[in-house]
Amino acid sequence: MPDLAPRPPLTIRLCQPRGFCAGVDRAIQIVVLALKKYGAPVYVRHEIVHNRYVVEGLQKLGAVFIEELDEIPAEHRDAPVVFSAHGVPKSVPADAEARHLFYLDATCPLVSKVHKQAMRHQRLGRHVLLIGHAGHPEVIGTMGQLPEGAVTLIESETDARAFRPTEGTALGFVTQTTLSVEDTAGVIRVLQERFPEIKAPAAESICYATTNRQEAVKETASGADLFLVVGAPNSSNSRRLVEVAERAGAKASFLVQRASDIPWDQIDGIRILGLSAGASAPEIIVDEIVDAFRERFDVEVELAVTATETENFPVMRALRDVELTPADMAFVNGVR
Ligand code: SF4
Repeated sequence: MPDLAPRPPLTIRLCQPRGFCAGVDRAIQIVVLALKKYGAPVYVRHEIVHNRYVVEGLQKLGAVFIEELDEIPAEHRDAPVVFSAHGVPKSVPADAEARHLFYLDATCPLVSKVHKQAMRHQRLGRHVLLIGHAGHPEVIGTMGQLPEGAVTLIESETDARAFRPTEGTALGFVTQTTLSVEDTAGVIRVLQERFPEIKAPAAESICYATTNRQEAVKETASGADLFLVVGAPNSSNSRRLVEVAERAGAKASFLVQRASDIPWDQIDGIRILGLSAGASAPEIIVDEIVDAFRERFDVEVELAVTATETENFPVMRALRDVELTPADMAFVNGVR
């Protein structure tokens, strides 16, 4: 017998922009194009972007994920190796060259820009303060652009208050691209109060995608009974969206990787659901989550548009002669 009980109404406020940013799109394209041009295997150092669905999809196509270059077996030394969108310390391409490996650097151009800003500070004789989270690959990559001791990591306002520079040292700061806009402003405020001469980077380090996704969540979270963010636990920008939703007034907010992660036992009597996706989360999973709610609720989707994004980062010249099929494009764009 079909279940004829009426389903409760639910409004889903769907944030726009959400999901893939131009840097993630480019990084995935680089791996797909490399597989088409050079054949499998293509080695990828670290998760190309922090998303299991994307990583597993690329593995099916022939990508092999490694953490360090010495994991590439001798018989595959002529296979390309791709560096992830988060960027790598300078020692990594140097190591690849020493091993005579052919590498393709998928570092997001906006992360490379932060690297350049950090190098510029150092060139101008400044000690660099990097505002970011310890252990995140982007932070490891940015710190690794400069010699040991040239960068101090500042994770919080407490760190900013505790930092003691060597007397007479000029200071400059940069930040990780995927931080909370609000928290970072607080840390910068402390640094500027303590060190009025500290130099900011020439351009904002938090990227457009992070800013836009946080802004969209902020606009839609107030009054939401629940806010879901599609993203991985190791995705910095996705985790920040969960925090932004809670601060902006959502009664509860969770990170989910797939529809199977939805905490149905904690979802009772909700009328308004906020929904967004981190910059490494494909749209296909957003669709999967909306479908899962449609099975249980009478869903109305309200698109909450707060910005229009037109950014597009081209891949490197070496891969521009390869054509993507419509199926490849769907995978690259994270859609059905
Ligand atoms: S989140 Fe920002 S910095 Fe990171 S890959 Fe996307 S556009 Fe680039």
